[in-house]
Amino acid sequence: MSRYWSELARGLSPYVPGEQPRIPGLVKLNTNESPFGPSPMVLEAIRSAAADTLRLYPDPQSTRLREVLAEHHGVAPEQVFVGNGSDEVLAHTFAALLKQPEPLLFPDITYSFYPVYCRLFGIAHETVPLDGAMRVRIADYLDRGGAIIIPNPNAPTGIALPRAEIERLVSARVDAPVVIDEAYVDFGADSAIPLIRDHPNLLVVQTLSKSRALAGLRVGYAIGDQALIEALTRVKDSFNSYPLGRPAQAGAIAAIQDEAYFEETRSAIIANRESLTASLIRLGFDVLPSSANFVFARHPCHTGQALSAALRERAVLVRHFSDPRVSGFIRITIGSKPELDRLTEALAECLATPS
Ligand code: PMP
Repeated sequence: MSRYWSELARGLSPYVPGEQPRIPGLVKLNTNESPFGPSPMVLEAIRSAAADTLRLYPDPQSTRLREVLAEHHGVAPEQVFVGNGSDEVLAHTFAALLKQPEPLLFPDITYSFYPVYCRLFGIAHETVPLDGAMRVRIADYLDRGGAIIIPNPNAPTGIALPRAEIERLVSARVDAPVVIDEAYVDFGADSAIPLIRDHPNLLVVQTLSKSRALAGLRVGYAIGDQALIEALTRVKDSFNSYPLGRPAQAGAIAAIQDEAYFEETRSAIIANRESLTASLIRLGFDVLPSSANFVFARHPCHTGQALSAALRERAVLVRHFSDPRVSGFIRITIGSKPELDRLTEALAECLATPS
């Protein structure tokens, strides 16, 4: 810190994502990336976009990408907003929609970026506890004021809510914007996008980072009523008029269009998740029911920190959390079969070694 820092910079404690070390042979299961490369069509689209037109500014409105996303989700292009990863889409959402007269509500164990954005944009917030089974309980949000943001599936638990519960929420809270962060929806949850037609207060945020294996390209998007999208666009235009470069727009279009590759890779991840869950249970873990590309699991005899440190010594990275309510857990990204075999072998070794 220095005396040149603004009051805003002094007050911020930023979200620190999982580490990205480059150690040969490392099994990296800490940041929920896809174990598969992106579709070959994506690589080809990026290559030709880069070769032909990189000297030119990109389309500031990402028109073609928004058309492709609109068609994919059965909405109009005016109902689609795109940004540099869903983190940026969320940042614009917080600025444009989530500062309301009453505090913003979100679950008390959830994506840890939300309080960071509240700080950044001066948004008061209140958290709503999960229930005893670590589920989001919609009934707790119905009689309160304020905007709402909930990830579905929630992070880092991986537990999903049925679409009917989201419908109950958006119907009961018509005066408030309700944002559903669907970063992990493609791994087994129901998207709330079909509810948008009848619910002008609903905004759904998705990403190409997980199920489309494009975390490195940084493309996320929001879908909602045209008036909500207009608010996001105003904020974006005041911030960065060219959020997505040409390679990102071209790669994202190809990723959405290659349905076959998407289906193949996401079903492989779901199958790997089910077999990892069974292996973890055999090793004595308690595993929350996941609809995401990760599992959240705890062992009765070891803390999350101890397990992740022991795994790290065996060149396997997983995530643990310091929050005492979840410090017993590790979050394991669903990798490839060989990666998960390495993980379970390493875990069996750690469990056999007294801690
Ligand atoms: N929402 C949730 C719940 C997440 O876990 C993540 C990934 N860290 C994101 C949004 C952001 O993902 P991205 O910016 O890569 O789209």
